[in-house]
Order: sequence, then structure tokens, then C-alpha cells
Amino acid sequence: MSSQRVPIIAANWKMNTTLSEAGQLVQSMIPDLVQVPSVDRVVCPPFISIATVAEYLLGTGIRVGAQNCYFEPKGAFTGEISAPMLKGLADYVIIGHSERRQYFHETDDVICTKVKSVFDAGLLPILCVGERLDENEADQTRVVIERQLRGALAGLDTEKIASLVVAYEPVWAIGTGRAATPGQANDVIGSIRSMLAEILDKAIASQIRIQYGGSVTADNFESIISQPEIDGALVGGASLNAAAFGAIVRLAAS
Ligand code: PEP
Repeated sequence: MSSQRVPIIAANWKMNTTLSEAGQLVQSMIPDLVQVPSVDRVVCPPFISIATVAEYLLGTGIRVGAQNCYFEPKGAFTGEISAPMLKGLADYVIIGHSERRQYFHETDDVICTKVKSVFDAGLLPILCVGERLDENEADQTRVVIERQLRGALAGLDTEKIASLVVAYEPVWAIGTGRAATPGQANDVIGSIRSMLAEILDKAIASQIRIQYGGSVTADNFESIISQPEIDGALVGGASLNAAAFGAIVRLAAS
């Protein structure tokens, strides 16, 4: 963790929780999370629960995020939700999660249009990048991530770019219980910052927060967040447990 950047911990609930479960879960999280204002705390529920969760979080300083959005602002796109529709409810939008790349065939080009649409709507993207196991084993981690970053940020022209959040999520670590070692995560995140310096600008890259994601728990996070390049976490499974998520957020403050 660097003293220059505010740590950011985001809960990705994925396709979990009914509307009433989401209300209960967020209420059970609030007492712990309000104690840690030095950390940016973000809860990303399923779309249908965003308004309810946002109401519970009003005035707490805890932010709401969406897990995805469509790149067009409006129109005949049955079933989709756009970034302008999220404005006023959410502050962040997760873009390019590996599950969206894998199951919904999102390409770097699509992800790029989504990143643009999020910034255009006045929201902040949490851009996910990360290599699959076969790519990791073939020593292609940095090649893959550089392609993902260049693709997602191509032609991006916004003075808000420094407020981008990047999540390094090795696909082999997501939901597997097999987190990257703190050293591995720190090395790759350091490389991501160098890539951002090349793609964008060194001063901007030094402001962009880069999270680690992949089987983060209250037990393994202390050694992860103590690494100098790691600015926080995107948390899946452990974010469905209020006590575990609260403990992870507390570790980012110390
Ligand atoms: C994620 O969904 O972004 C994630 C990192 O999941 P998990 O923490 O369950 O590995």
C-alpha cells in the first residue's frame, strides 16, 4: 500500500442475493464499514438491488458500484443497462471482469467502449485485467495484460483518467481459493503501473489505484495489502460475508 493513494476495497457480489438478501447483507456491513473512512469502500450488488443498497448507504460514505453496463447510452437493447441509467445510483462500474470476458465474450474493443461510456456518464470504471492459467504457465502474463490495457484505454481522452481504478485479477485465482502470492501480485501490479506510465503518462500512472483480486480473504489479505504497489482489493466470495469483508477493509486502513 502506498501512502500517496487512498486504498479502495470493492465488494463484487456477482449474481448472488435476492433483493431482500441484498438489503440484509448491506445493513449487516454498514456498522463495520463506517468505522473505516480512510478507505474507499464500494459495494457492487446485482443491478436489481442497486437502488435499495444505495438507499441504505446514503450518508454513510460507502459507495455503490455496478458490476457491468452496456456501452450505448439508451435505445433498443433489450435487457441492457447503460452508464447514464446508473448515474445517481452508483459511482463505480466494474468493467471487463474475466467472467464477462469468458461467458459473455467481451472483447478488448467492447471493454474500451464501456470504459468510455462510464467516464462519459460521470462514473468511475474499475477495469479488470488478468491472465488465464494457460497464459500464466506460458509466461504470457505481461503480454496479455498489456494487450488488455492498451485495448481498454485506446483513444481514451478524458482529464478524469487518473480516477480510473484497475483490478489485477489473475483468472486462475478467482473463486479458486488459490490467491496469487503477495510477491507475485505486487510484481505484476508494479508492471501494470509501468505499462500505464507508457500508455498514458507517468504522473497519471502514479495516481491510478490498482487493486488485487482473486480469492482474497480476511486471513490472506494482510500480507497482500502490505505490498507497496497494491492499493486495495476487488473481493468476490468473501464480500458475501459481512464480518469477513469488514475485516478486509480494516486491514487496508492499517
Ligand atoms: C472477483 O469476483 O472479482 C473475485 C476476485 O472473486 P473471489 O474473491 O471470489 O476470487
